[in-house]
Amino acid sequence: MIKNPYLGKFIAFEGLDGSGQSTQAGLLTDFLVEKGLEVVLTKEPTRNSEAGKKIRQVLDKNTRVEPGYLQELFTQDRKEHLDKLIIPSLEENKIVISDRYFFSTFAYGVSDGLDLEWLIKNNSEFLVPDLTVILKVRPEVCLERIEKRGNAKTLFEETKKLEKVWQTYAILPKRIKNVYIIEGERPIDEIFEDIKSQVRSKLNL
Ligand code: ADP
Repeated sequence: MIKNPYLGKFIAFEGLDGSGQSTQAGLLTDFLVEKGLEVVLTKEPTRNSEAGKKIRQVLDKNTRVEPGYLQELFTQDRKEHLDKLIIPSLEENKIVISDRYFFSTFAYGVSDGLDLEWLIKNNSEFLVPDLTVILKVRPEVCLERIEKRGNAKTLFEETKKLEKVWQTYAILPKRIKNVYIIEGERPIDEIFEDIKSQVRSKLNL
């Protein structure tokens, strides 16, 4: 994996769906813009690339595709995201904040039965963010927040699946540099205070 050699800083938010990534990414964007910095707020999967469009189709229709193929699509989409938006912005000294990045491929891919080392290898040519925040929120709380309704069994299965996703998130700080887990079951502003202090101490912003 490649250390960011560019002028700008690259920050990623990760976690289970409903953990508050977009909320915190939005708050951090506003905060840094107010300080007069140029910020590009972005998201994976993108909506622009061919791979991103295919991913959308799969996710929206809830169709099942082979997990390895799905993660290859995410990886292709990521390559284009880096080449067309993230790297050009970093070269221009901008701060790039991405709502999800390759950590999602690792966590969701492993939960679908894929091998972590294979997934890491497929993403080994990509930039490592200067700071990654993984929001820790229990699956049942995430599901409540996104008001996912269903019968008890579905909810139970969904909780089990997300617990599996979390198991990989939990080990990523040991595998990849500059990754921090932040307790996300707190009021939004309290979480954001912690994120700001990470951004201050790690990135000098
Ligand atoms: P994600 O991007 O991780 O899927 P969102 O930021 O969209 O999550 O948040 C999902 C829902 O949870 C939203 O309705 C949001 O307002 C709410 N939410 C986000 N952070 C918190 C928090 N710390 N406490 C309670 N609710 C939250």
